[in-house]
Amino acid sequence: MGKVLQTQEQAMAVDSLRRYLAAEVDPLFAREYRDRFVPREVMAGLMRRLSEFGLVSGAVSERAGGLGLDWLTSLMLFEEVAACSVDLSVPVLINSFGAYLLEQVASPELRERYLPGLVAGDTFVSMGISEADVGSNVMEVRTRARRDGNHWVISGEKTWISNGAYSDFLICLCRTSDDPRGGLTQILIDLHEHGYEVRGIDKIAFNSQSTAQIFLDDVRVPVSNTVGEEGGALKRTLSHFEKSRAFVAAQSLGLGRRALEEAVAYARERRQHGKVIAGHQLIAAMLAEMATQVDAARLLVHRAAQLFDAGQGAEMEAAMAKYFACEMAVTVARQAVQIHGGNGVTRDYLVEKLAREAIVCPIPEGTTQIKQLIIARALTGVAAF
Ligand SMILES: Cc1cc2nc3c(=O)[nH]c(=O)nc-3n(C[C@H](O)[C@H](O)[C@H](O)COP(=O)(O)OP(=O)(O)OC[C@H]3O[C@@H](n4cnc5c(N)ncnc54)[C@H](O)[C@@H]3O)c2cc1C
Repeated sequence: MGKVLQTQEQAMAVDSLRRYLAAEVDPLFAREYRDRFVPREVMAGLMRRLSEFGLVSGAVSERAGGLGLDWLTSLMLFEEVAACSVDLSVPVLINSFGAYLLEQVASPELRERYLPGLVAGDTFVSMGISEADVGSNVMEVRTRARRDGNHWVISGEKTWISNGAYSDFLICLCRTSDDPRGGLTQILIDLHEHGYEVRGIDKIAFNSQSTAQIFLDDVRVPVSNTVGEEGGALKRTLSHFEKSRAFVAAQSLGLGRRALEEAVAYARERRQHGKVIAGHQLIAAMLAEMATQVDAARLLVHRAAQLFDAGQGAEMEAAMAKYFACEMAVTVARQAVQIHGGNGVTRDYLVEKLAREAIVCPIPEGTTQIKQLIIARALTGVAAF
């Protein structure tokens, strides 16, 4: 990996996190939980430790009990988690944005009740946007919340919900009126008080953490559990995507970097035609291309983070980072498999898993095609969707 400009504080934070992950977490995901579901107590233990390093806690201000890290530092730390395990990066990402949302817009009562657990790593949140028929177009959300006195009565089905089986509460995007733009509201549904049914989804990868369907059947929730103002959730969800997309980009960046590291190590060891394969020009060219792609993705991620830190809008820049980094991960992971030859498609080598994981990356948080549409809209002022 090329040099990265870091302050002394950032370098120390990244270094100590990297050492912890290599010593204690990497072996866990490489062996015991390779493609196996990590039970909630184990995942919570990891989240507690990561919180000490600034993951999740970094997304919340010191005033609200967090570490209040800047976006760039948070993304540097997040890249390390993803380079160790994309499975582990998912609850970090979802809890971070759940915590961020609660601090930004929830009532003081909801904040006091739900934020400390997330920051400490004791509890998990899910963010419920997607539905069976609602993916790329958030405006079409159908899960309905109707008023009944001081309660919402919520019915519907959410799907692809990360943290689903871990979550203590769900921040659910609901339709509260028929106005396509002004009719969406976020409502906090507490699993332990209001209940919801969770069913896991088995996937090509990302199976060590939870992705689930969530079923809501006339769930009664107090109106005081509304997160932010009624009808204001579409605008907020789209603006949160700007930030969360940079994290999904950093997830792919970590994955691509790990594939490169594995390929470099293998190319230095494996001998064919009388020398290590790193000494064959076509392998050297592939490694050079992979490293350049990984670093280009990092520069896009860091640029988006710097714009966030400067308080500037970065919709196009975050979309570019997500688009490029996710497609980079697919290409680089495939090249890493190629460099491993036959060994690369066996479960004895990590690159097999990385290649499966990479295929997933261009889908969540807005697909590659949606990213292209956002970038083109910013360039031309014409929406092609
Ligand atoms: C591992 C994983 C975790 C996830 N976690 C969450 C979560 O925690 N919470 C949550 O709410 N959701 C989550 N999602 C859902 C994710 O956000 C959606 O899968 C994504 O938005 C795409 O929606 P879709 O799957 O319905 O695809 P669709 O929207 O049906 O798209 C299908 C294809 O059509 C393309 N397409 C769609 N519209 C257009 C257009 N206008 N022009 C050109 N092409 C188009 C897409 O790019 C895609 O290739 C997760 C998904 C995955 C895979």
